[in-house]
Amino acid sequence: MSQQYILALDQGTTSSRAILFDRQGRAAAVAQQEFEQLYPQPGWVEHRPEDIWSSQLNAAHVVLREADVNADQIAAIGITNQRETTIIWDRETGEPIHNAIVWQCRRTAGDCDRMRSEGLAEIFQQRTGLVLDAYFSGTKVRWLLDTVPGARELAARGSLAFGTVDSWLIWKLTGGRVHATDPSNASRTLLFNIERGEWDDELLAALDVPREVLPHVAPSSAMIGETDSSLFGRAIPISGNAGDQQAALFGQVCTSPGMSKNTYGTGCFMLLNTGKELVRSKSNLLTTIAWQLESEPIEYALEGSVFIAGAAIQWLRDGLRIIGSAADTEAMAASVLDNGGVYFVPAFVGLGAPHWDAYARGTMVGLTRGSTREHIARAALESIAYQTSDVLRCMRDDSGINLTELRVDGGAARNDFLMQFQADILGIPVVRPANTETTAAGAAFLAGLAVDFWSDVSELSELWQREKTFEPNMSDSERERLLSDWTRAVERAKNWINAS
Ligand code: ADP
Repeated sequence: MSQQYILALDQGTTSSRAILFDRQGRAAAVAQQEFEQLYPQPGWVEHRPEDIWSSQLNAAHVVLREADVNADQIAAIGITNQRETTIIWDRETGEPIHNAIVWQCRRTAGDCDRMRSEGLAEIFQQRTGLVLDAYFSGTKVRWLLDTVPGARELAARGSLAFGTVDSWLIWKLTGGRVHATDPSNASRTLLFNIERGEWDDELLAALDVPREVLPHVAPSSAMIGETDSSLFGRAIPISGNAGDQQAALFGQVCTSPGMSKNTYGTGCFMLLNTGKELVRSKSNLLTTIAWQLESEPIEYALEGSVFIAGAAIQWLRDGLRIIGSAADTEAMAASVLDNGGVYFVPAFVGLGAPHWDAYARGTMVGLTRGSTREHIARAALESIAYQTSDVLRCMRDDSGINLTELRVDGGAARNDFLMQFQADILGIPVVRPANTETTAAGAAFLAGLAVDFWSDVSELSELWQREKTFEPNMSDSERERLLSDWTRAVERAKNWINAS
């Protein structure tokens, strides 16, 4: 029987998903399984590695069963994953030495403060493109080695393996035969020199991480290993691997320099492909590895995030309770002529690029007796677009690249009002694809390229289809007025909890 599908494993923060992609790049079937989030202390977040694995394997079995597809019909597996989450396991027994420390976990924030005060931020930024923050894997690895009794000795003897979630899944899928990651995941560890494309001895020393624990770095699209035949009844090639945001960039087929995507979820994640050029940010955006295709040089991206985007809409629903569902905001915003002078700065957890103010807090300005909940709903949607515009402007300034369009995905990208307003505020077309499973599609595309399921990137470009293009339709003077008022509103949110 011919091999008709690529199986994408999309291991996310709250659930594991398995999606079958056909040759047209369409998601033919999807299965999903949630798993437990553990909060052992305030600010700490963990997952059980066994839950990550069993939910992922189960989702894969369910999608095959429900679609009535057997392993012989699968050409390859591609993996995409929650990034930075850190697992260490024993190479002999395969047993994790501790729960996974999730990217959100703040337990090593103090370590990062200390390293910054020792003047280490610059070398980490230079070599890794990252800011020295607890979010990334490096300080989590050190915490595990320092905290779990006996771990340091075992690590020195070469008995322990460190991996981000992709490595853990590859290890489990190959029955412990392969310990590998890809450059996009490696670039989120604080241990990887993104210019040279290799683990960096000085950074390893600064974080006290022994080389013996590290995975092999294979390209994002290449033969990585084969599944243990006991899992699916046949050995299936694993040939794609990238962190979730980079996979989404690939799934949007933003494969040429200057192409960008923004994912509108709880927060926003925007990535700009800068090609083979490593662009260093002057605005504290992250420089990250986008992917590496087989026998090709590494490709890079600039990454900027907005902390609160769709979450502002959730707050209207669950906090203020002025909407019934997120989708209501679309009609509400369209029912008023304009924002009525109301600006909402959802700095609930501070502000990221380009403001970088941890002490900022949310505010709403410009309220009058004429303000209605429709104005507030509109202001909330507008705030998502303004914040995206702020990040995009940094990217343009850092890279010198003038973007020609923005490809979008994520839950809030379904909101037509938001997408139109986004196009208006950016002054470039905003393009929503027909296939919104962009993260999983990226993993599938990477895997499919390596096994000749698809021949090359230009074939992928043809698979990508637009559902709707939002053309900018706002005068320059109107755009400037709105952005200038937004900037004034942001000033009022800044440095709030410090000021008292
Ligand atoms: P995540 O992966 O971060 O959980 P999703 O991509 O599933 O996020 O998107 C969910 C987010 O999008 C929620 O914060 C929700 O408030 C927002 N959202 C969903 N639908 C809409 C909509 N029609 N309009 C505005 N926001 C929406």
